[in-house]
Amino acid sequence: MESIQSSLKHMTGNRSFEKQFTQLKEAVFRSPHVQLFLEEHPSLSPITLEQGLSKLYEYQKEQSHCAHCPGLQKCPNLMKGYQPTLYVERDSLELSYSPCPLKEEEEREKKKRSLIRSLYIPKEILEAKFDDVESEPGRSIASHRALEFALSAKPGEDGMGLYLYGKFGVGKTFLMGAIANELKDRGIDSTIVYVPDFFRELKQSIGDGTFQQKLDFVKNAQVLIFDDIGAETMTSWVRDDVLGVILQYRIMEKLPTLFTSNYDYDELEEHLAYNDKSGTELLKAKRVMERIRHYTVSVMVQGQNRREHQS
Ligand code: ADP
Ligand code: MG
Repeated sequence: MESIQSSLKHMTGNRSFEKQFTQLKEAVFRSPHVQLFLEEHPSLSPITLEQGLSKLYEYQKEQSHCAHCPGLQKCPNLMKGYQPTLYVERDSLELSYSPCPLKEEEEREKKKRSLIRSLYIPKEILEAKFDDVESEPGRSIASHRALEFALSAKPGEDGMGLYLYGKFGVGKTFLMGAIANELKDRGIDSTIVYVPDFFRELKQSIGDGTFQQKLDFVKNAQVLIFDDIGAETMTSWVRDDVLGVILQYRIMEKLPTLFTSNYDYDELEEHLAYNDKSGTELLKAKRVMERIRHYTVSVMVQGQNRREHQS
């Protein structure tokens, strides 16, 4: 910890130690963070403040780092990603450290990644922004709806989601990435899973005991994005005991679920009925489909296949 004393050592010149000390002290007491603290604790005695000077110094220094935050990777604080809180205990000033919002977010992401491996994370998608969405006539309605959702979503109060469908490579997943980023700026956490991998992962996790944990996580995601539904191998277990269960819960809790698919609603319904397009399977498929139809706005995404134009 860089103390006041060692800070003073950095200061050179002919001025007396005392003068420098007084100046530093004044600077500490002038800092807005310390001033606020003093306003909230008007009865602190001068002795307490004097004895707690190094704490006050540390506090204002680190808080001012945070006020000019250069991002978590470049955090200059003593403990990277931690912010000090100043408090009074038995007439003495004390500091405690807790993770800052950026650190908390990183921790949440880490936890999420360690639990669910099929989270969808190509870099270009993770960094997608609405500002980068190149406009193209076939996609403008979809972009508009996507932005509208991102700006107005209220998980827990409004469970309405989106269903973006269209051909391969038109930018459905990209739009979902842009939604996730916009939501993040609003402090809303979203979970994007690539459906074929996710269902496979869930199936495998039955053996290792993490199935319920994974299922619960996805059930409770503030905003859940099912990327590429319809591309998975459908079974009645996946449809009724996984997809149906997740959607039922999310509808009750008013948590929005978003989908991308190569299929429109009717085609997805057929896919969900997989081996029996007339009997009980179709009925069950219809039941799950109801939960998708009623709780999403469906938008077709058109345009060029952008992957064909890439190297
Ligand atoms: P889909 O999910 O519909 O198959 P993607 O979202 O994966 O398509 O998009 C295909 C490629 O085009 C990706 O490499 C993506 O980064 C890029 N892309 C998609 N939409 C846009 C856009 N609006 N602006 C710039 N690049 C885009
Ligand atoms: Mg996609």
